[in-house]
Amino acid sequence: MPSITVVGSVNRDLVLSVEGLPHPGETVLARHFAEGAGGKGANQAVAAARLGSRVRLVARVGADAVGLLAALRAEGVDVTAVRTDERHPTGLAAVVVDGAGENTIVVNAGANAALAVEDLPERLVRSLGEVVLVQNEIAPELVDLAVLRAREQGGTVVFNPAPARPVDPRVLAAVDVLVPNLGELASLLGAARPATLNEARDLLEHAALPCRAVVVTLGADGAFLREAHGAGVAHVPAPRVDAVDTVGAGDTFCGALADALGRGAALPAAVERAVRAASHAVTGLGAQSSMPYAAQLDAPSL
Ligand code: ATP
Repeated sequence: MPSITVVGSVNRDLVLSVEGLPHPGETVLARHFAEGAGGKGANQAVAAARLGSRVRLVARVGADAVGLLAALRAEGVDVTAVRTDERHPTGLAAVVVDGAGENTIVVNAGANAALAVEDLPERLVRSLGEVVLVQNEIAPELVDLAVLRAREQGGTVVFNPAPARPVDPRVLAAVDVLVPNLGELASLLGAARPATLNEARDLLEHAALPCRAVVVTLGADGAFLREAHGAGVAHVPAPRVDAVDTVGAGDTFCGALADALGRGAALPAAVERAVRAASHAVTGLGAQSSMPYAAQLDAPSL
């Protein structure tokens, strides 16, 4: 059983399903409302745990997160390194999803922004496990610290630079597998978002990124993989599915990628597994509720 440490965010997700996304100044009625656990850190932790990895989450929540922590525990995620911060509320995400599965999201960082150096003490750093998974929903200093310390420990460092913001090249150089979506890739490179798959392939092929490998998620088109600087770009297409809600697709992808890498899979095989897991996740509503278990992923139907 591979062990994975996720350093990231925990949010309370308020998910409103609507006919069409509201325009500025417009009010629309929700068809359905659900509240659940979210945040990129928590989502990626659950995705990896459902596939069988031993996962520990390093995060901060507010005193209002008792139910969220219980839900994470029930998923098998070790939350002993999740600190309760009395001064900040738990992070909150207001998610609006339309009938075609398109979404808009507003996040209040809350306690996630207070995650600090003391949350990653030496004792934790020494037991990070085979894979360390980090995203951008925490303070940049913590992303840098987690990536650089994980690099020193020798585990595989997977960094999902979402949401997009500038990243120190020294930190990128310490990353084994960078997993941006197309918008995040363009933003990291200071380039315009590619309009076609060919443009995206071109952008990735020539991207001066100092990390070892880059995996770009492409929504319904699956993912691109560049295993090393100067290497060609491989396309891993996604299976055709009826997409109901793409919230959490990228998180499922990252969690599944970490799980596969932790098991010793080669990068191309790990990306194939991640594409299958994420494509499964878009067939159901909610970020975590639609994440697959290993048995579902191994079933021949997908
Ligand atoms: P999100 O922010 O909504 O979680 P993202 O922008 O981080 O998503 P995407 O590139 O949209 O990430 O999707 C991640 C993965 O999810 C894709 O690589 C693919 O495997 C799967 N996926 C997403 N949308 C679809 C779809 N419509 N059909 C099949 N698979 C999909």
